[in-house]
Amino acid sequence: MIESAFLEVIVWDHDRRIVTFPEAHPALGWNACAVAGCTKITTSSSKICPTCTRRWKATGGQPLESFIAVSKREWRAIGIGDCVVPGCLRPWTTSAAQLCLTHEAHRKRAGQTLPMFLRTPGLTGFPAFGPCVVAACTRTRMGHKPSYCQSHLHRWNATRRAEPVTDELLWHRTTSAVAENNLVSLRGLPD
Ligand SMILES: [Zn+2]
Ligand SMILES: [Zn+2]
Ligand SMILES: [Zn+2]
Repeated sequence: MIESAFLEVIVWDHDRRIVTFPEAHPALGWNACAVAGCTKITTSSSKICPTCTRRWKATGGQPLESFIAVSKREWRAIGIGDCVVPGCLRPWTTSAAQLCLTHEAHRKRAGQTLPMFLRTPGLTGFPAFGPCVVAACTRTRMGHKPSYCQSHLHRWNATRRAEPVTDELLWHRTTSAVAENNLVSLRGLPD
């Protein structure tokens, strides 16, 4: 019942089951945060995103125009990337580390900076562990055990602490995806 033209507008990815809301659409559109280097979305009524608003307020009076013009240095990337070791298919632990858990541990043990570590002879990538077990999630898991991506592992630990009787298998099927800007996951829903 949905026209293919509309599926194109919402950039429906049938295989991943992800909707991407278009920036310029009159009804579904959104504004990009005005801060240089920030890629988050914001409401139509405010120029900058909630995270940047908090950072701006913390400056204690810096004019908004100069705050916006200065590119974010310690920007925590939204979404997730792969480990930067060539051929490594595991997710990075943080956007600052840019390495998967194992490669980050190796780098720390060697006491090297990231550029030094990447020049290590014979450095090889690791195969992916597979998808996060949360039905709505598009991310890859952190390890064989636990079988969650990093965000869902944190969420599951918090849920388990707050509500020890939670049925973990039911939680896999019902907890939401990790919020990622203008992406909406319809994964885990019936066809
Ligand atoms: Zn922002
Ligand atoms: Zn790696
Ligand atoms: Zn996940």
